[in-house]
Amino acid sequence: MIQITMPLNFLGTVYREIRQSLTDMGEMFELLEQPREVTDRPGAGTLRVSRGEVVLDNVHFGYDPERPILRGVSLRVGAGQSVALVGPSGSGKSTVGRLLFRFYDVQEGAIRIDGQDLRDVTQASLHAAIGVVPQDTVLFNDTIRYNIAYGREGARQDEIESAARAAQIHDFIESLPDGYDTQVGERGLKLSGGEKQRVGIARTLLKDPPILLLDEATSALDTETEQGIQEALRRAAEGRSVLTIAHRLSTVADADRIVVLEAGQVVESGSHAELLARQGRYAGLWARQAAERDEDAA
Ligand code: ADP
Ligand code: MG
Repeated sequence: MIQITMPLNFLGTVYREIRQSLTDMGEMFELLEQPREVTDRPGAGTLRVSRGEVVLDNVHFGYDPERPILRGVSLRVGAGQSVALVGPSGSGKSTVGRLLFRFYDVQEGAIRIDGQDLRDVTQASLHAAIGVVPQDTVLFNDTIRYNIAYGREGARQDEIESAARAAQIHDFIESLPDGYDTQVGERGLKLSGGEKQRVGIARTLLKDPPILLLDEATSALDTETEQGIQEALRRAAEGRSVLTIAHRLSTVADADRIVVLEAGQVVESGSHAELLARQGRYAGLWARQAAERDEDAA
């Protein structure tokens, strides 16, 4: 009996782990749209996060080295700070996210977390330290409970609920006849984009990473949903270092610092108020997006 069940259990575990990491990867592919090209160097250490300070130090990078995309980008997300990266489409914002996750190595300069160069630590420890809230959360064909608990193996129900509360999705779940046991995904209850995103936020809150990487949804969610998500993200950001890759400006106004990227270079940085007062690039982007919002509302 033991001879049969042990390998089966083992296979089950391996299967689950493979499936989970594939889904993780799938999620990351969707978010960052990139394959992984980087491997751990021999003897790579474990990333030790004490404060969660993220530093890009004169980063140069191009997918094709002949065509530079980031040209000497320096920025710092201090411990517990929230920094928003904005700029025109194609300026290199998502590329910064991909480099922070180390899908690629920088060609010049360095990225460090609490002083440790990303090239010197294992990718597993790097990825454990960074929570990603993707634009499109992938749900498993399983219960809502499983879908949230997947953020951390062995999580207790009260921990799952408290993550769901902070993600503004608990009341919705409780309103379902089967509550946390509701089947979701392709073969279960179909959740709206906003609900899925909040499940994703709950999953990340449960994982409790010191660093958050948010790639902001570009899709227009309705205002009510969006406010729920903004509140969930605000809660998620508490006590963490957050880098938001923002495609709209309406949601970054209260970031500690806004960094404006243009053609792979930092052209401005400061608070929302400072940048508006400067009447430069950010103020221009802001005015343009405000006009678009008014048009949409009309
Ligand atoms: P943003 O997020 O600011 O819109 P990205 O970082 O996605 O900009 O892209 C910056 C530049 O890098 C763009 O010119 C884009 O075409 C290019 N780029 C993005 N991904 C790749 C890739 N995998 N291979 C080659 N070029 C890429
Ligand atoms: Mg992008």
